[in-house]
Amino acid sequence: MEHFSAPQFRDDAAAREYLESVLWPHGPVCCHCGTINHAYKVKKPGWYRCAEKECRKDFSVILRTVMERSHIALHKWMQAFHLMCSSKKGVSAHQLHRTLNIGYEAAWFMAHRIREAMRDGGLAPPGGNGGIVEADETYFGNVPDSKPHHDDQLSPVH
Ligand SMILES: [Zn+2]
Repeated sequence: MEHFSAPQFRDDAAAREYLESVLWPHGPVCCHCGTINHAYKVKKPGWYRCAEKECRKDFSVILRTVMERSHIALHKWMQAFHLMCSSKKGVSAHQLHRTLNIGYEAAWFMAHRIREAMRDGGLAPPGGNGGIVEADETYFGNVPDSKPHHDDQLSPVH
């Protein structure tokens, strides 16, 4: 059974910092114009403002990712990614529901989204430490602006 003792699994700020270190190894990347490491922090925790003259937009590490659109706590996402990443067979929504102590619908949403990201991004198989560290930005994948597919609305079946 997972214990999730690492800070990124327990605390949203730590989860965000962890994500930043994984997704932004060379500094903050503006998701509006793609500029790397040319931004400054703004008051709102986790947010940056692009310093490019033509851009000047605000962004955060989860902006335009699957995590942005949900109300699920970021550290729960880290737990879910870790579980789904470290299990060879994959993890069912029901397992997420029980292990993460979140509602079944939230678990189902996460499982669906993470599988989509893994399928689209060609996630590297878990290695020695079998964790989220292996993930690159495609894993967390940007989500298209289009509305969710109709099958996202399916009610969960036990
Ligand atoms: Zn920018």
